Amino acid sequence: MKVAKFGGSSMAHEEQFKKVKSIILAAPERSVIVVSALGKRTKEDDKVTDLLYLIHAYLHHGVDWTPLWERICERFIQVRDVLSLTFPIEDELLEIQKKLQREKVSQDFLVSRGEYLTAKLLAEYVGYTFIDAKELIFFDYTGEIDEERTKQAIITIYQEKGPLVVPGFYGANPVGKEKLMGRGGSDITGAILAKLLNADCYENWTDVSGIMMADPRIIDTPKIIKEISFRELREMAYMGANVLHESAIFPVQEAGIPIQIKNTNDPEAQGTRISSKEVEKENGLTGIAGKKDFLSLTLFKRHMSDEIGFIWKAMSVFANHGISIEHIPSGIDNIGVVVSAEAIADQLFLITKELKENLGVEEVEIIENLALISVVGGPHKELIGLSGKVLSILNQLEIRTSILSQGAQELNLIIGVKNEEYETVVKGLYEGMVNVDVSKTSHGVTSNS
Ligand code: ASP
Repeated sequence: MKVAKFGGSSMAHEEQFKKVKSIILAAPERSVIVVSALGKRTKEDDKVTDLLYLIHAYLHHGVDWTPLWERICERFIQVRDVLSLTFPIEDELLEIQKKLQREKVSQDFLVSRGEYLTAKLLAEYVGYTFIDAKELIFFDYTGEIDEERTKQAIITIYQEKGPLVVPGFYGANPVGKEKLMGRGGSDITGAILAKLLNADCYENWTDVSGIMMADPRIIDTPKIIKEISFRELREMAYMGANVLHESAIFPVQEAGIPIQIKNTNDPEAQGTRISSKEVEKENGLTGIAGKKDFLSLTLFKRHMSDEIGFIWKAMSVFANHGISIEHIPSGIDNIGVVVSAEAIADQLFLITKELKENLGVEEVEIIENLALISVVGGPHKELIGLSGKVLSILNQLEIRTSILSQGAQELNLIIGVKNEEYETVVKGLYEGMVNVDVSKTSHGVTSNS
């Protein structure tokens, strides 16, 4: 069986419901369906979830929330009517409205109504049983999902009732009240249910045909990554690629269940498969990701490399100030520490002072406005030419890199350039690498396209 999760854009209006229905009914193994709340119909439109958060804030500040509420009601009623469903949604809406009028509504209850009502409508439309997430996903007192209890519930309900539609994004707290997950939480609901039901696959239906090889704001229609391993995905996501929520990946990764990203608006497109399998890519390249606004401190001390524990002591200074270290490119008697510029801003002076006074660091060179670009490759351990290609592209672009580091697992190559050169470098790398067969330069290593 498969767990299929449909995001807000897939559920934005009645026409999207029709596409979702045909996707579900085309494959009976898609038997647990998780939905987000009605999303944006156009770029300028609002997500129902955002409107619900706003209503809660208005209520709190005594602002008239009724126009927003009416917009929400109209949207749900329109879906129900156009699809000729019989669900008496007005009664549910009235119940919620009464709670709002009594000002007795918790944010978690109110905001979760988006998913709740969307799932009710879809369940009737596809003829599957609706199950309130409150009866299925349980949180413990620490705010973590109680997997044992949740597992018992989902297995029993699934066996008894057959195919289900479940609202994503919330569950029940230990006293049985609605509890929201973080934004984008429907992905987590889907992942948890896939894990606990030991699904063959977790399908994540959205409005793009998969994970792109580079940021579409920089590259015009980048290619889609057909297969990516969890480890490569983590590299891409960490360096800023917009992929699934980390917490939505972990449960399925742990259970060895693949994720398939699919496009509701183009169901025939292959999409991206995320699994534990490391597949060697054409040209050795999985994708390019990156982020701006880092700061690098280069610490220099004579004979640093002979001093046992120096790196540990230096790292402790950053840790004591609560600064997370992103990268540590090192030389012989110098070491670079790359951190988020924003995170260190208030403490830079103090940290530099401590490094000099307590650790005897002689010089601290600071590079600001640094962007990091990660060239993520699959298992390219034996592939010759990837780093050479990256460097020759930088050379052609006449751009110098202040950082060049290859992760120990050889999954990525990270380069540091100036913030203002970031887009140029990403474009240059993409154009120079995506259509070029680096494997030709390797000795006997073939791509498995
Ligand atoms: N509707 C929620 C949000 O917008 C949850 C989700 O879509 O996954 O964050």
